Amino acid sequence: VPRIIDVHAHLTDPSFGDIEGVIARARECGVEGVVVSITRPAEIERAEELLASFPGFLSLAMGFDPTVLDEGAYQHFCRIAEEKRAALVAIGEVGLDHFYVKDHSERAVQESLFRRSIRLAKSLSLPLVIHSRSAGRRALEALRSEGAARVLMHAFDGKSGDAMAAAKEGYYFSIPTSVIHSEQKQKLARLLPLERLMLETDSPVLGPERGARSEPSNLVLAARKVAEIKRVPVERVAEVTTGNARAFFGLA
Ligand SMILES: [Zn+2]
Repeated sequence: VPRIIDVHAHLTDPSFGDIEGVIARARECGVEGVVVSITRPAEIERAEELLASFPGFLSLAMGFDPTVLDEGAYQHFCRIAEEKRAALVAIGEVGLDHFYVKDHSERAVQESLFRRSIRLAKSLSLPLVIHSRSAGRRALEALRSEGAARVLMHAFDGKSGDAMAAAKEGYYFSIPTSVIHSEQKQKLARLLPLERLMLETDSPVLGPERGARSEPSNLVLAARKVAEIKRVPVERVAEVTTGNARAFFGLA
């Protein structure tokens, strides 16, 4: 079994009532770590419970839902992130979502919150995990103009050319399990060097079966598909993406 790390999973989701089984299945499938992603401060309690239950296996990234355009909620997020700094391995996911937010003035608010999140990560000396939906280029431009250096673009849906340019500058991209059926993700995996890739499930969404709950054990499908696309052994994909994840998030 390849030793792999799921760098993006929403394990605080209420659909994971059977968390013991979820973690056991992940371990059986070679997963040796999961970065839990939360997008609302209210999830922090459940996340801390999970981290305490599976020490050394789970780590935590704290972000802010880019479709929430509320100043008070945003300030609350910043306060909790600062308070919980010691428990975090990244700020994220934060970013831009032009799929759900179409109004121009709302997009401006979204971008200003995103830019503040980039600065927050810098002030806390944490790397960034970026959500960009229908806003890939715009998100990359904001990151560059804020001077962000430690960046992981998660489930990137933008143009491969934009991704290539960002990869050349050292940004990472995590390939989700949906790579098994998404041509856009296959193209991304083909074009970007393995040295810039990580693997994610984005559980409970973006799974192999549309509409069904996904879980970290499915990460092995992404590893195999990337290996097939890149024509390298799956062990090589595991070794490089796991090394990238450990270095990026500072995992032991
Ligand atoms: Zn996510």
